[in-house]
Amino acid sequence: MSTEIFSGPLPRLFRFSATVVYGKREVVIGGGAPVVVQSMTNTDTTDVIGTAIQIKELARAGSEMVRLTVNTPEAAKAVPEIREQLDKMGIDVPLVGDFHYNGHLLLNDYPDCAQALSKYRINPGNVGQGVKKDLQFAKMIEVACRYDKTIRIGVNWGSLDQSLLARIMDENARRDQPWTAQGVMYEALITSAIESAAKAEEIGLASNRIILSCKVSAVQDLIAVYSELARRCRYPLHLGLTEAGMGSKGIVASTAALAVLMQQGIGDTIRISLTPEPGGDRCKEVYVAQEILQTMGLRKFSPMVIACPGCGRTTSTVFQELADSIQTFLRDQMPVWKTKYPGVESMNVAVMGCIVNGPGESKHANIGISLPGTGESPAAPVFVDGVKVKTLRGENIATEFQAIVQEYVVKNYSTPSSA
Ligand code: SF4
Repeated sequence: MSTEIFSGPLPRLFRFSATVVYGKREVVIGGGAPVVVQSMTNTDTTDVIGTAIQIKELARAGSEMVRLTVNTPEAAKAVPEIREQLDKMGIDVPLVGDFHYNGHLLLNDYPDCAQALSKYRINPGNVGQGVKKDLQFAKMIEVACRYDKTIRIGVNWGSLDQSLLARIMDENARRDQPWTAQGVMYEALITSAIESAAKAEEIGLASNRIILSCKVSAVQDLIAVYSELARRCRYPLHLGLTEAGMGSKGIVASTAALAVLMQQGIGDTIRISLTPEPGGDRCKEVYVAQEILQTMGLRKFSPMVIACPGCGRTTSTVFQELADSIQTFLRDQMPVWKTKYPGVESMNVAVMGCIVNGPGESKHANIGISLPGTGESPAAPVFVDGVKVKTLRGENIATEFQAIVQEYVVKNYSTPSSA
């Protein structure tokens, strides 16, 4: 006997909730809150205007927190100036400072920087060596306690705490059946994160001020490490494949790893570490993060464009151009639409290449257009809520279709305050 088939991710695993605050803006990570999208700048932090502009672009694209490098005294001095520029532009996205090696000095020597940041990323592998390590880690945690900031303990396999790794290797050598080098590395990553979090709590940081990450660059490693990390602790988890790479490789690898984990209910905030192509748009990492979450049914950010892949029935590029132009149009409208037309992010728009699946798929979407395939009559029927309302012809199909979409949004998602 068959049983009903259900779909969707497993329930999110229980996590403490950590809050990252700037002014009235509160970003909740964990505790069942929607998975948060974050990104990182690649400007020189001392370039105050350039960095503020990139942060604004990332925030407008939908990044809910933005991390920036704080690596020198000059960068630390620039942070409050960047914050001020953002305030002037009306951008209240919380900023995360990324510290390595000298974070204990910068956070203590530049209190305005420590205050302007909403969260500190601390890499336990890069806080110092020997006896200095605990002391310097403690100094950073004390600043977080003083200013009531949340931290991310961000372990990375490329900068693993070497003394801890040596200890785990010694423990392994004493096993009757020693683990593989890979197993030892997994254990070291997880132990580094969890022991650092325990130290931060001993120093006085509240458990709801701690987020953990253990980044690696291979998909199966990431899945193995986070599955175990999630089992061993209740801190909210920042997910991301480090050094994911360029172009489709980076997108595919990140999606493969994150989708498997999020399907299991693991992951409270994500960043997609794409290497930008020369002259490429830094916001792409935000769009990819949003698309992963939206296609998995975890969040909704922007209307979805359902487009067929095209085939031998579509020998012209009209349909590719229309799919691209409508995707760009929707993305460009979203900063305004999301406040003016609540719920618009649930809208589906279908752009189909020919009569085979065009009318059927178009009818399932809120708005759909079925373009003429090769040899078909040069007419494009448009469907609104499953009903054919119009047939477009001629050179201006893209503009006319955008106008129909705009009209639909105003008609269906306006609120009394939209006018
Ligand atoms: S809808 Fe038409 S053009 Fe698009 S993939 Fe299917 S058969 Fe090809």
